[in-house]
Amino acid sequence: GQCANVCPTNSITEVYEYQSVKEAIRNKEKTVIVSTSPSVRVALGEEFNLPAGTFSEGKMISLLRKLGVDYVLDTNFGADLTIVEEASELIERIKENRNLPQFTSCCPAWVKYVETYYPEIIPNISSAKSPIGMQGPTIKTYFAKKRGIDPTKIVNVALTPCTAKKFEIRRSEMNSAGKYLNIPSLRDMDNVITTRELAMWAREENIDFNSLEDGKYDSLMGEASGSGVIFGNTGGVMEAALRTAYFYLTGENIPKESLSKLESVRGNDGIREASIDIKGLTVNVAVIYGTANAKKFIERMKKGDKTYHFVEVMTCPNGCIGGGGQPKNLEEIESIREKRVNALYKRDNELANKFSHENEEIKLLYKEFYGKPLSKLSERMLHTAYIDRSKDLNIGDKKMAKFKCKVC
Ligand code: SF4
Repeated sequence: GQCANVCPTNSITEVYEYQSVKEAIRNKEKTVIVSTSPSVRVALGEEFNLPAGTFSEGKMISLLRKLGVDYVLDTNFGADLTIVEEASELIERIKENRNLPQFTSCCPAWVKYVETYYPEIIPNISSAKSPIGMQGPTIKTYFAKKRGIDPTKIVNVALTPCTAKKFEIRRSEMNSAGKYLNIPSLRDMDNVITTRELAMWAREENIDFNSLEDGKYDSLMGEASGSGVIFGNTGGVMEAALRTAYFYLTGENIPKESLSKLESVRGNDGIREASIDIKGLTVNVAVIYGTANAKKFIERMKKGDKTYHFVEVMTCPNGCIGGGGQPKNLEEIESIREKRVNALYKRDNELANKFSHENEEIKLLYKEFYGKPLSKLSERMLHTAYIDRSKDLNIGDKKMAKFKCKVC
């Protein structure tokens, strides 16, 4: 009720839409494709009494197949794509010394906060779409063509930890595939379901999650690097993008000593800062979670004289692993979040490839479709623009004055 009226992205209320996905599965004419976000796999098990931080990627994939989904793809692949585009954009801005710092754009609640409260920094927000924002149009064009599927028959579903993504996919501009294919009614993503919704759906169908065998993603958009994996933690986007920016600037992968400097921004504080040297260029970065901390940082940045190059902001505590659509156990939430974070970094350590730019499926996608990062087609499909929404402020502010949100 009240929350839905005042929250910028409706992220503290949840509209269930898994029934629509069930309906699409029953419709034999439709091809249902689910893409799974980084943080879901380290939290879904909690809904089935597995210890917090259990990495249940394989069971999650099998569950989706058992529910009748036609293709299961990985939004970690989309995260690698976001990193490649965002790192390329960062390098351009640094070289041309414009619109710095570059702020990350993958959290829709943060983006809407800027559009409403700080429209003057809209030029600083990366134009790169979020992983889901890139996954959607790429599935309906490249993937559909390679697999011989009619894009108008695809129901594209994002499985996320995030209730605000339900708002993001419905932004009017998220129809790049439709524009490209000249099918105005085509949306890039059709539905968002949360970790909790998937668990409800599984219980409704009486599926015993714990006895499922491990499944594997479908190819073409199912491979991910360690960088794509850590996207789900606060600090992960920045760390992942700088791993790739380092390579683009120097032609070499980041050495271990520099990598450990980046790792110094991992942790729980609401605002963390680091500087990293890229062959003589000092890059100043900051990692923030929560809009209250973001506000503090922006005000301080405006008054100070330090030049920041890259700033990551996520709205939820510890980033997406603490998203509004994740399982809720409010009593132990802090230790649970820590276990989810550790599970993602453990996975990053286990993967042989830590770099988005070395993801073979990403390389193939550029070779066969987008050409190169920031190409004309990449800009058209994978980048976006933002809207000054400050005129909404009067209405919102009056309501906000009476309401204290515990989420952001
Ligand atoms: Fe969604 Fe929270 Fe992640 Fe932002 S930080 S994308 S609101 S889950």
